[in-house]
Amino acid sequence: MHAEILVLHFGKDIVDQPIIYRLVKDFDLEFNLLKATIYPRQEGIIVLELRGHPKNFEAGVKYLKNAGVKVQRVASEVRRNDERCYQCGTCTAICPTGALHVKRPEMEIVFDVEKCSACELCCPVCPARAMEVSINRNAVA
Ligand code: SF4
Ligand code: SF4
Repeated sequence: MHAEILVLHFGKDIVDQPIIYRLVKDFDLEFNLLKATIYPRQEGIIVLELRGHPKNFEAGVKYLKNAGVKVQRVASEVRRNDERCYQCGTCTAICPTGALHVKRPEMEIVFDVEKCSACELCCPVCPARAMEVSINRNAVA
């Protein structure tokens, strides 16, 4: 069994097509949806954990690419530069895994690296550019 977190970018020309349905049905794969931002006739992003036999997994990724989906395989690490972070909380609204969350009652913005899928969605929304990406060499090896 192989499992990986993928970030899928759908162009507006394919966003209405049943691509995920076919991925699961035709390639015998399971998925755990982490985040979906999809609107009819607009570009969309889906973050999911995909699992299955390694051959099916690779065939499924090939199918996605042939269908016009931009597939981003998560092989990077995202870290928070605590010296830059000023605890504004913007990132907590977009983080699909809860790695960035509000600790109550202190109202502290916590970054739990163990929960981070490295989807990078938090990087562009952080006004302080505190979320930094680096290559996870263990994942690439
Ligand atoms: S990269 Fe950012 S948004 Fe994505 S899971 Fe990690 S902390 Fe959350
Ligand atoms: S958006 Fe940036 S500055 Fe604001 S809490 Fe998140 S990491 Fe910190």
